[in-house]
Amino acid sequence: MTSIVVLGSMNMDLVAYVSRAPARGETVTGRAFRTVPGGKGANQAVAAARAGAEVAMIGAVGADDFGVRLRSNLEHCAVDTDLLRTAEGPSGTAHIVVDDEGGNAIVVIPGANSTVTSLSHGDEALIGTADTLLLQLELPLSVVTEGAATARRLGVRTVLTPAPAQQLPPELLAATDLLVPNEHEAAALTGRTDPRAAAQALLRDVPEVVVTLGASGSLYAARGAEPVTVPAPRVRAVDTTAAGDTFVGALAVALGEGRPVPEALAWAQAAAALSVQREGASTSMPYRTEIEAAFG
Ligand code: ATP
Repeated sequence: MTSIVVLGSMNMDLVAYVSRAPARGETVTGRAFRTVPGGKGANQAVAAARAGAEVAMIGAVGADDFGVRLRSNLEHCAVDTDLLRTAEGPSGTAHIVVDDEGGNAIVVIPGANSTVTSLSHGDEALIGTADTLLLQLELPLSVVTEGAATARRLGVRTVLTPAPAQQLPPELLAATDLLVPNEHEAAALTGRTDPRAAAQALLRDVPEVVVTLGASGSLYAARGAEPVTVPAPRVRAVDTTAAGDTFVGALAVALGEGRPVPEALAWAQAAAALSVQREGASTSMPYRTEIEAAFG
């Protein structure tokens, strides 16, 4: 079994479903409300655990009811939470308004996530036991950079999802083995809207890049090799929330198990294609047996 540590965010998603989002100063009556455990870090942890890895999470929840639920959700998904901190103050929350056309507007309040500013000795020891460290940008950049540098020093593969998109410190890029932006993030990082050109530009800073292309699949680029595009399975998508996190979690599992890159990409895309056919974020993520069945 491959072993994965996630250094990342945990948020409670507070989702309001409305016919149309309110304009400034306006009040609208919505149709429904749901609270759903989320955060890119936690989502990638759940995706990797369901795909068959041993997974541990480093991050923080708040000292509130959301924190209790966020922690127990991860435990329920068989993710090790021994090093998850409980910070004073509120848990991270994402306030999401979804309209009838599937459009959304989101306010993220980092809460406890912003208290994770450095690694403990225990965190470092845990990272040292892993095959792969998964990172995103919903924790302070200082700790993301420290995590990547620690993993690099300990010979652990680092996979960074650069979301939300922002300029990355050179030290973080220098400690990243595989960068996995979506098309928008790749464009924001490089100023190139063509994914191939963006991937080529990113290869100046990191040895391997996967640009996810939504329903079109993904593009893999490595230094000194021709880029490869792997098409996604054709499916009827009902909700693409967390497709990217499902993809990254499953990709880390497949690479950790030693599958060649094109096969690992196809396996991750089988997982992500299953997730887009179901509603929800972590609730939509497939189990290993389902991925194997879909992969064929
Ligand atoms: P999200 O923000 O919704 O989590 P993302 O923008 O980070 O996603 P995408 O590039 O949209 O990432 O999707 C990630 C992966 O999910 C794709 O590479 C693909 O494998 C799969 N995927 C997304 N949408 C579809 C779809 N409509 N049909 C099949 N696979 C899809």
